[in-house]
Amino acid sequence: MLILPVLILPIASAASEFSYPRTLDHPWDHSPITVYIDNKSVPPHYSPSYYTQIEKALEYWEGGGNGKLNYTPVFEIVDSEKADIRIRWVENLERNASAPSGVAGYTTPWIDNGRFVRVDMLLGIGDYQGTEWIRYDDETMLVLAKHELGHALGLEHSNDKQDIMYPDYKQKDNVNSLMSEYGSLLLVAAYAVLAIIVFFAVSRLLMKKKDKRLR
Ligand SMILES: [Zn+2]
Repeated sequence: MLILPVLILPIASAASEFSYPRTLDHPWDHSPITVYIDNKSVPPHYSPSYYTQIEKALEYWEGGGNGKLNYTPVFEIVDSEKADIRIRWVENLERNASAPSGVAGYTTPWIDNGRFVRVDMLLGIGDYQGTEWIRYDDETMLVLAKHELGHALGLEHSNDKQDIMYPDYKQKDNVNSLMSEYGSLLLVAAYAVLAIIVFFAVSRLLMKKKDKRLR
């Protein structure tokens, strides 16, 4: 009994470095939450596999998601635009919709009496990297869908880079790959200090170039 607080304290202080704010603790007053996925009026470069990513993202949150919800959501995909959550794709969010620049996904919750009454979600399917337009792959769409659904469930942005609600998924991905490669470099040799510094510099440069924000 005396040892227990000693064991818990370091964990508690580490966890408090990050915040996981919520727009509302219980945004939906009913269950299931209905979802309309518009796969009829889609942009030219839409891939049918994006629909599957939405389904996977819904399952992610039904299975507990990032563990920061006070409730367990249950979704029902419906074929009606009167759904609670309405998801649409656009070719490029920055140029096709009135969203702030540099945004890949955009979620608008409509709140009445302290509850969400409707959530509109716009997902871009690609963006310009320099002058070239690059279509998102399924993995990117899945991350984007998970993140935007987090907003539709009442979560706001986290300052935890490992959390799905961190607002910069490209940077998050780069940080992950950087850490795993950095780990293997350490295994190879201690002589590689210079190489690591160069690797870091290049990664940081790429990170800045690829910077893409989620809203
Ligand atoms: Zn966001």
